Amino acid sequence: MEQLLGAHTSTSGGVSKSVDLSEKLGFTAMQIFTKNNNRWIQKQLEEKEIEAFKTKLKNSNIKYVVSHDSYLINLCATDKEILKKSRIAFLDELERCELLGIPHLNFHPGSHLGAGEEDGIKLIAESINIVHDKTKGYMVSSMLETTAGQGTAIGYRFEQLQKIIDLVEQRERMTVCLDTAHVFAAGYDIKDPMNFKKVIKEFDQIIGLERLKCFHMNDSKKELDSRVDRHEHIGNGFIGLDGFSNIMNDKRLKKIPKILETPKGKEQLEDLENLKVLRGLIK
Ligand code: ZN
Ligand code: MN
Ligand code: MN
Repeated sequence: MEQLLGAHTSTSGGVSKSVDLSEKLGFTAMQIFTKNNNRWIQKQLEEKEIEAFKTKLKNSNIKYVVSHDSYLINLCATDKEILKKSRIAFLDELERCELLGIPHLNFHPGSHLGAGEEDGIKLIAESINIVHDKTKGYMVSSMLETTAGQGTAIGYRFEQLQKIIDLVEQRERMTVCLDTAHVFAAGYDIKDPMNFKKVIKEFDQIIGLERLKCFHMNDSKKELDSRVDRHEHIGNGFIGLDGFSNIMNDKRLKKIPKILETPKGKEQLEDLENLKVLRGLIK
């Protein structure tokens, strides 16, 4: 089977429009926001739009969809009001995915804002448990994304993600997304072939490869261990083509969908270039 490849895709004009654009660009996988990523509240999805999305998707070549949650959400916010808003918004994100039939909701664990990593991790797990309790039986997974560890962001070590998963009650609902730019900036050297193998082994030992359900394929504008989150086109950053070749040619990772989050214009033609580069690396 060919590797599932695609990019974060615009939903301008309605969620179902993302399927049209992804099809046009030849994607087999895509990521979308199901609401404006910079707003707390947004009107519910219309039945018509949900049906259009599902029908188009069924008749398309897109075999994998993931939703990315709003950037405002912080599941370990120190401010009580923000924390409450974040939990409500996260619940709403899961509900939107469930309605659209999207199997994964990708999210950044959270930023502890000075409270400390241990407290942050506990609060994130508590938030997830509260929301999971309200959504029993949902098929959508809660997908933790690895982070660059910028500022007070949690999730820049595999151990931190596993600690969160350990504290979640409905653990079968937890999956993980590995963002290449983020892990590289966090200090995991995926560029060097030998070290890449070590990183994947570490992921497998600490979290388990069975939870890895997505890759965010981004090169990094910043150096190894910079702890700064800046995405670059594939091959133009510090990870470079060697790093992406490691991923594209690892047998265990072939079945894991790969999504670009690299800079792009409205037409997303840059995505075509980046996908061509990735495909060209397959040996
Ligand atoms: Zn993200
Ligand atoms: Mn990402
Ligand atoms: Mn990022």
